[in-house]
Amino acid sequence: MIFHVISIFPGYFDSPLRQGVIGRAINKGIIKVNPVDLRTFTSDRHKTTDDRPYGGGAGMVMIPQPIAKAILSVKGERNDVPVILFSPAGIPFNHVVASHLARKKELILLCGRYEGVDQRVIERFVDMELSIGDYVITGGEPAALVLIDAVGRLIPGVLGCNESADNDSFATGILEHPHYTRPRRFMGMDVPEVLLSGDHKKIGEWRRKKSIEITLRRRPELLDKACLSPADIKLLDELKRDAEAK
Ligand code: SAM
Repeated sequence: MIFHVISIFPGYFDSPLRQGVIGRAINKGIIKVNPVDLRTFTSDRHKTTDDRPYGGGAGMVMIPQPIAKAILSVKGERNDVPVILFSPAGIPFNHVVASHLARKKELILLCGRYEGVDQRVIERFVDMELSIGDYVITGGEPAALVLIDAVGRLIPGVLGCNESADNDSFATGILEHPHYTRPRRFMGMDVPEVLLSGDHKKIGEWRRKKSIEITLRRRPELLDKACLSPADIKLLDELKRDAEAK
């Protein structure tokens, strides 16, 4: 899979993409990140990418021409390469969107800066606007890194054989259970007995219970859409009753 990232700071991606799972996947050639320097598509000697907003007001707006040229330089006549713009006004980026994007062969990621991008570029070229949360960051580059990481790890072969995305939070529709490792006792706190029992059925049940418990406490809205078994629903009812009794 190729991520083409259009940005005025193409060097932004150098170090993060050399690390960890994604760095390894890039080295193996499973994914490729192609930073596209927006300034190479400008037409003045100052390599200008922004201008004052029509209508006045604070801040600058990214001008449309270099962005259009940059997108077309990657896309050409093809219409199977989705263009994604990062924006606080976008739809929330989540596991469902990441799984959908992981099936594409190429993506063009457009990183906004300043007050954002001229609306006409959005209307003409952008297929999807994505937000990484209800806050404002200074540019789309961190959002692009988040997307590359979240989508990249879903691509077959990116995670090693001892790693799996299947049981992660959100992949199952709910949050993941807590984890423990050595030592057995740490600062007076013991690892839950069941995890030492070797009884995999009981361990599975404990983990499922903890997942449901933590989701109910922190993100109850996820439970409305999650795929729950009759045993899960019974457990959830018990947990709700317990919470009400407290
Ligand atoms: N004026 C914009 C607003 O109020 O919605 C904020 C612009 S922000 C300073 C500059 C760029 O950062 C945006 O064009 C976008 O590409 C990126 N950005 C900021 N917050 C974001 C978020 N929550 N999700 C995705 N991208 C974001």
